[in-house]
Amino acid sequence: MLFYMVITMTKPSSDKADVVIIGGGVVGTSIAYSLSCYDLRVILLEKDNDVSLGATRANSGIVHAGYDPIPESLMARLNVEGNRRMSALCKDLDVPFETCGSLVISRSEEEDQIIQQLYERGIRNGVPELKILSADATLDREPYLTRDVHSSLFAPSAGIVMPWTLCIAMAEVFARNGGEIRLETCVSGLNSSTSGIRVQTNRGDINARFVVNAAGLFSDEIHNMADRPDFKILPSRGEYYLLEKNQGKWAKSVIFSCPSPITKGVLVARTAHGNLIIGPTSETISDKEDTSTTAEKLHEIREKASSLVPCINFSENIRNYSGIRANSDRHDFIIRRVPSVPGLIDVAGIKSPGLAASPAIGPYVVDLLRREGLQLQMNSSILRDPNRLKRKVVRFHDMSPQERASLISTDTRYARMVCRCETVTEGEIRDAIHAPLPARTIDAIKRRTDAGLGRCQGGFCAPRIAAILAEELHIKPTDILQDKEGSYLFTGPTKIAPESTCDAVAVTKADTISGRTDSMPAEVKHCALAIIGAGPAGLAAASKAYAEGITDIIVFERDKETGGILNQCIHTGFGLRVYNETLTGPEYAERAAKEIENTDISIFTDTMVLDIRSDRLITAVNRKDGLFFCHADAIILAMGCRERTRGAIAIPGSRPSGIWTAGTAQRYMNIEGCMIGSQAVILGSGDIGLIMARRLMLEGIHVKACVEVMPEPGGLSRNIAQCLEDFNIPLLLSHTVTEIKGKERLESVVIAQVDSKRDIIVGTEKEITCDTLLLSVGLIPENELTKQAGLTLDKNTGGPYVVNATTCLTDGFFACGNVLHVHDLVDDVTLEAHKAAYEAAAFLKANGNIHIDDKESISGPMSSVTHTQNTPNSLRILPSDAIRYVIPQYLSLPINNDIIDISFRVRQSYELAEIIIRRSDKLEVYRERKSHVKPGEMQKIHFSSSMLMAPEINQNVDLILDITEGN
Ligand SMILES: Cc1cc2nc3c(=O)[nH]c(=O)nc-3n(C[C@H](O)[C@H](O)[C@H](O)COP(=O)(O)OP(=O)(O)OC[C@H]3O[C@@H](n4cnc5c(N)ncnc54)[C@H](O)[C@@H]3O)c2cc1C
Repeated sequence: MLFYMVITMTKPSSDKADVVIIGGGVVGTSIAYSLSCYDLRVILLEKDNDVSLGATRANSGIVHAGYDPIPESLMARLNVEGNRRMSALCKDLDVPFETCGSLVISRSEEEDQIIQQLYERGIRNGVPELKILSADATLDREPYLTRDVHSSLFAPSAGIVMPWTLCIAMAEVFARNGGEIRLETCVSGLNSSTSGIRVQTNRGDINARFVVNAAGLFSDEIHNMADRPDFKILPSRGEYYLLEKNQGKWAKSVIFSCPSPITKGVLVARTAHGNLIIGPTSETISDKEDTSTTAEKLHEIREKASSLVPCINFSENIRNYSGIRANSDRHDFIIRRVPSVPGLIDVAGIKSPGLAASPAIGPYVVDLLRREGLQLQMNSSILRDPNRLKRKVVRFHDMSPQERASLISTDTRYARMVCRCETVTEGEIRDAIHAPLPARTIDAIKRRTDAGLGRCQGGFCAPRIAAILAEELHIKPTDILQDKEGSYLFTGPTKIAPESTCDAVAVTKADTISGRTDSMPAEVKHCALAIIGAGPAGLAAASKAYAEGITDIIVFERDKETGGILNQCIHTGFGLRVYNETLTGPEYAERAAKEIENTDISIFTDTMVLDIRSDRLITAVNRKDGLFFCHADAIILAMGCRERTRGAIAIPGSRPSGIWTAGTAQRYMNIEGCMIGSQAVILGSGDIGLIMARRLMLEGIHVKACVEVMPEPGGLSRNIAQCLEDFNIPLLLSHTVTEIKGKERLESVVIAQVDSKRDIIVGTEKEITCDTLLLSVGLIPENELTKQAGLTLDKNTGGPYVVNATTCLTDGFFACGNVLHVHDLVDDVTLEAHKAAYEAAAFLKANGNIHIDDKESISGPMSSVTHTQNTPNSLRILPSDAIRYVIPQYLSLPINNDIIDISFRVRQSYELAEIIIRRSDKLEVYRERKSHVKPGEMQKIHFSSSMLMAPEINQNVDLILDITEGN
């Protein structure tokens, strides 16, 4: 099967070049960039399908100040010079960079001495403004550091940069100025002759006057093709954690622990993108391409980093990865002419600080080439227009509202959001595909636009990016790669999809015409009620609020259709409570949508809400209206949830394609019609995973096991029976996946048994061959907008705190559905949404909202709810240790509704349980006996509010919800 198109930047017509550069890392591209202002034929050869896929892809991204290298070494000189040049270079190339300074932390007198040595070395190397800080001054600068700081070495000139962006930017400018980049072109031989060097590759030979060997880890092998062995590359692997942006705040500077002769330090830093990076380890390995992570090394990093910055929250991890340093058996960079091979220049052993040094390495090598006889004549078009050495890209995420509006007014493709986490637009994705060095894979798009780099790790945007790639490149989804050659995504169309349906990934085609919107961001719209999200929660809230008399409603939905996640749930089992029949997801969505047909409710689909302020000003964008603002008197949040990814559970191993969250796999199979593999393992027995197990079996994908870390399944009992037992899929409880194997595509997973503390039981490991791993390891309410609006989230539910049922603690905000807490059944979501509608309507009425129709309200029993200001007269409901969470967390006083509904989840199973509500003064107000209480099933109790009335209930008394074993 053909998985990938051959990419060359220009046709390899001629086989002659002035200079051939081997290697498209940051070093090779820096040399190419430095040569791009001269009249020369330069060809850059890269064995992989994109530049920056070697050490340049996976490193710390630190622009070291230069106190570390041995004085007088080439490394010291190029590091300090590279650091000096980096800021201007990044400005010219529009690459994210920040001079944030670095600190090496001493925690003992011994370490103070090392700090002193580093300081002296730095001074000799010419590092500017270097100083030693006292403990207090260090803590002033970095307040989240451990308190046992002794002193630190502060280097204000250190910085952070996006390594792959720098590499791609230099390659793009080189290509735009006539340089040739030949991807998937592997050098296999070098033959020296009087006229130059013949470079042999898998795509033909090239005669070059000069060859620059910038092949990173393989630079010794390249050297040995032309000369006797002279140096050896000793690969050294470094593993990392990459945490969510909300953890970036712990490090203002780059923080290094002090290295010692026996232990290597660890660094904690923000990335230029705002995440927190922690690592790397240092381990000499034999396989130059083994970028796996390991449980031991990840543990080592966690321990070291936590002792340095104790408040790091590792549950915010989004990714683990490793990179391999091209250390050599020399102590310095090897940048020199090879005496026995005229025209050959080695640029080898470029370990850290190679990235920092790269802006200086390019010019240094150009000068070396000049001294070797290369004529350097400035290119006339660059002389005329020096801006040809610069680059500017669209980054919607970083733009002001005015800039965004103006951009959209020129091309509405910038008004369609593809990556919701990083706010990347369709326009940016298409720009990347049409850039001078075009993106051709999902990860190549990520490296150029940041799409997929965020908290959901591509779960939402990858199918949309695949669609755009398929359309722009005129290829089938089966030819789309995740990353390198071999990292295929799909094996063909599903059974239910005709062959052509697999092409339907390109669903955006008809709508992707570029065009102009009429206006700049316009006047502020206004509505009585804005609903964010048109899944089942948003739709039900809209129809019920309308029935309550609110006619002025706007529903915002980022997808092209309403219905949310239901659209991809083609199985039955929805609607028994609400519609009294069992429907498929799309049928339920259709019913919900029908309920708002023939109303005045405005539905804005394909519209992304970018921001909500606490005063309920919404900023949104779509192709029709461009960027616009809407002020709402009340807002119902109904944004649903997202899936936990591999990063959240930090499974060690390699990073091949074939690992999907269950919901993303469901979308690919059920909406796009693409087969995602042939042999699968499911990790986690949540409902989506169970449903997908059956779906895969029906499609002919062999599900070898469903592996669950808990001693009991996470999903509904009916799904265990219908989706696993009926298909003889083994459910392995108290098991987990301990390692992922496979180079480009998944080849196998290792599973093992765990004990009651979820620690792996050594000796129980078993390897299962598979090309697909589905992760069904939990859902997280999607509350980024909620946080932007200033609402506080309950860490137990992941959603906002609510009073009564759905009223948030900030005036005029309400939340329902999976954004509030994750539900098992859509019917419960709908019923909760009705409550949100009632509560929002009561709020609007209480505030004399003029948009409420004074027609008779047609609501049911909840209509008696009057809005009470949620603070300060509220009663707290607290979960005991046995309860995972409770909704609502507050009841407003006085309690006006007769029946109080409480939803909660437990931590363990009970065959027979006593559910008790006690006041904090020990008075029991409610007790109920229940059988078969399980963590996987949401529990509900309803009781009369009269139970809370007497005696003298007030906000000084909390209610405690508890559960115990019944007898
Ligand atoms: C874990 C880790 C942390 C690091 N942290 C930092 C840091 O914070 N700051 C810093 O300054 N530096 C850091 N570095 C070092 C820095 O990443 C490297 O010095 C730099 O990326 C090296 O760039 P390169 O172009 O030499 O190598 P690479 O990026 O590896 O590029 C070499 C290229 O050559 C290609 N190639 C190889 N053989 C052939 C062939 N036969 N034909 C065609 N192409 C070929 C490869 O595919 C590859 O793309 C770190 C490195 C690692 C691994």
